[in-house]
Amino acid sequence: MKKIILVIIDGLGDEPIPQLGGKTPLEAAKTPNFDSLAKEGICGLMIPFKFRWQEYPTSDVAHVALFSFDPKKYYLGRGVYEALGAGVKLKEGDVALRVNFATVDKNLKITDRRAGRIEKTKELIDALNKIEIEEADFHLKKAFGHRAVLRIRSSKKLSSNITDGDPHKVGVKVKKIKPKDNTKEAKFTAKILNQFLEQSHQILESHPLNKKRKRKGFLPANYLLVRGAGSLRKTPTFKEKFGLKTCCIAGGTLYKGVGKALGMDLIKVKGANGKPNTNLKGKFTAAKNALRKYDFVFLHIKATDNLAEDGKFIEKMKFIEKIDKNIVWLFSNGKIHKEAFILAVSADHSTSSLKKHHISNPVPILIFGAGKDRVKQFSENSCKNGKLGKLPALNLVAFLKKLG
Ligand code: ZN
Repeated sequence: MKKIILVIIDGLGDEPIPQLGGKTPLEAAKTPNFDSLAKEGICGLMIPFKFRWQEYPTSDVAHVALFSFDPKKYYLGRGVYEALGAGVKLKEGDVALRVNFATVDKNLKITDRRAGRIEKTKELIDALNKIEIEEADFHLKKAFGHRAVLRIRSSKKLSSNITDGDPHKVGVKVKKIKPKDNTKEAKFTAKILNQFLEQSHQILESHPLNKKRKRKGFLPANYLLVRGAGSLRKTPTFKEKFGLKTCCIAGGTLYKGVGKALGMDLIKVKGANGKPNTNLKGKFTAAKNALRKYDFVFLHIKATDNLAEDGKFIEKMKFIEKIDKNIVWLFSNGKIHKEAFILAVSADHSTSSLKKHHISNPVPILIFGAGKDRVKQFSENSCKNGKLGKLPALNLVAFLKKLG
């Protein structure tokens, strides 16, 4: 069987943009390498997965589906993926949440959801990790910038079926955590988490670092906004499901976490940071080298999505050009030619640079190394006419395996 490399460019698909002459960033970008891969390969559109209740696909759910794990059965909650991706060890039954350090006034009204984008939170986290709540252990770990992840572990049974504390708005009061069902597990989890958040607030209010910040005119990081509770439970690994030894190369925490949850080995690449200045050459080279050991290599590139969410379509276009330039490092000698692997390039969902959020449009996909069709360019529009037709994301891995 041929080995497989799956390159996911987050939020790659977009909409026609007047300032780009009615083209999408991918259409407007000069991408000679993507185009030659499309020309020598087969193309189509992939339909991103979203839950019925979701207006648009989200990256976490869409990625679980990309690996052909039905989110209805296997989605564990955003907090679990973020925690695993940040290197927090989880056991079955643990509850994990995403955390923002935020600023609140004396009435607990939010003045800044990111506490002035505070970076240095280690001292605060060390202080909060000393909190003791009856029958539960709370463990906080720093993540990117003002973010952190929280793990709750207890001898009593916990439930992740609890509400968020983050109202996602400024000028309103933080929310109390509530159970979403009537079970004693959800009630208990909400109760101890509220206790923890209250104690955290007191400690943060009087912490020397925050006093210093106030003196210097910075916003104090005096509240933990939590959201996305999830709970770890045993699910099959990618290898168990498909018999393929797999690794994950990603800069973003979430994607590392999804990989980890599915039993993938994480490969570290220096300078892979999920931002526009990420080390693309290093990532593609690492993917090429990983083929020696692995059957299925997942490589994730994040910045396209963030740039679109900021409305930066020119930057998105330029970043796509940079990816195009560097994709040659997947091949020996840095030149595109047929090799003993199948390469698939696609996205988890589309992100509109005009609307500045995810959209439900299908995403273009190209598969190189398993036949040819008449498509000559890699874009939303040209891929419509490809041999692949419309492929539901959930079927992708099985489809790639069959090609090999
Ligand atoms: Zn995404």
